[in-house]
Amino acid sequence: MEYNADNVFAKIIRGEIPCNKIYEDDFALAFYDIAPKAKVHALVIAKAMVVDFADFIEHSTADEIEGYMRAIVKTAEILGVDETGYRLVFNSGADSGQEVPHLHAHILGGEKLPTSHL
Ligand code: AMP
Repeated sequence: MEYNADNVFAKIIRGEIPCNKIYEDDFALAFYDIAPKAKVHALVIAKAMVVDFADFIEHSTADEIEGYMRAIVKTAEILGVDETGYRLVFNSGADSGQEVPHLHAHILGGEKLPTSHL
């Protein structure tokens, strides 16, 4: 899928839409999900303009990939779920139910999570 910069996360990166920010660096921006599906539900979006994980890997340098992954770990630490555990979800494509076509990781935690889709 071709990247389309009209999506809501691109608008958040450009500052056109506000977010409840948790962490930001050169590689990623993390904020709380507007419709949380767990006690702790954050999104870590890439600064890169890419649709999904495969698009990101194909169009990024090793440094950019590492930077994004480290930002996810950092966000989990700030949220305090690094000790208690968390689930990372990357929805990708129609069958996954991906709503926003801009790479993002869901961090879910803060409680025992159901295992029905794993
Ligand atoms: P996905 O289905 O993986 O594309 O997830 C998109 C997520 O973005 C959903 O969990 C939405 O609740 C969340 N979301 C959509 N718009 C916003 C927004 N403006 N601020 C924060 N989260 C949002």
